[in-house]
Amino acid sequence: MIHVENVGKTFGEFQALQGVSVDIPAGQVVVVLGPSGSGKSTFIRTLNALAPHDSGQITVGGVILEDGAPLDQIRRRIGMVFQNFNLFPHLSVLENVILAPRDVKRVPRAEAERQGLDLLRRVGIEEQAHKYPAQLSGGQQQRVAIARSLAMAPEVMLFDEPTSALDPEMIKEVLDVMRDLARSGMTMVVVTHEMGFAREVADRILFFDGGKLMVDAPPGEFFHSPHPRVQQFLGKVL
Ligand code: ADP
Ligand code: MG
Repeated sequence: MIHVENVGKTFGEFQALQGVSVDIPAGQVVVVLGPSGSGKSTFIRTLNALAPHDSGQITVGGVILEDGAPLDQIRRRIGMVFQNFNLFPHLSVLENVILAPRDVKRVPRAEAERQGLDLLRRVGIEEQAHKYPAQLSGGQQQRVAIARSLAMAPEVMLFDEPTSALDPEMIKEVLDVMRDLARSGMTMVVVTHEMGFAREVADRILFFDGGKLMVDAPPGEFFHSPHPRVQQFLGKVL
C-alpha cells in the first residue's frame, strides 16, 4: 500500500529525513516513535505530500507522489488526523463530517447524512451530531475528526499524535476508536507516545532518530531492542 524508497527531505540546509526506506502492506498498523524533532511528523506528512519529499520515491496505492501527481485524488485516499482536531468551528458535528463527501464526491445530502450518522455511531457520538465543536470535549472532537476522515472512505489513515492534546481521561476513548479501526483492517500509520497502544495494536514499530529510520521491528522485538538510542528513548517514556 505504501512504498517508501531512500526518501530525503530538507528544510533549507537542515536534513529532516535521510535515506528512509519502508514498505507498508495493506492492513498493517505501523506506529512511529522517536524523540522530539526526529522527523516523525515530517515522515508522515511526506506520505500524503503535505511535506513533499525532495529525494527518493514514495508510492501510495500504486500512485507515485511526484510533481504533477493528482494531489487532490491522493489526499482523498489518505485520511489524516492531527493533534489539534482542526474541525470547522462554524459547522455542526454532522456538517463537519458530510462536508467533503458533499463537496468533493457530490454525495446527495440525505445519503451523506445517513452515512455521516453511521460514522458518528461508529465513533460513539451519534447523539452529538447537531452540536458545534466547541460544545464537545477534546476526546469527542477528536472522534469527530476521525469520523470526518473516514467519511471519504480512505485506504490509509495517518495520525500525528492524535491524543497529545487531550486530558488523560479522554485518551482512552480515542485510542479505543483507533483500535477498532485497526481491527477493521485499515492501513494505519500512527505517531504517538502511547506505548500501550504501540505494544498492543502495532504490527510494526518504526523508530526515528535524527531524521533516520533507525529501527523497523515488531513491538515484541522493539521493546527489547539493545540499540542505545532506543534504550535511551524508552528510559524517558516508559
Ligand atoms: P517530530 O515530529 O519527530 O517532533 P518533525 O518532523 O516535526 O519532528 O521535525 C523534524 C525536524 O525538522 C525538526 O528539527 C524541525 O525543527 C524541522 N522542521 C520541521 N518542519 C519544518 C519546517 N516547516 N521548516 C523548517 N524546519 C522544519
Ligand atoms: Mg511531530
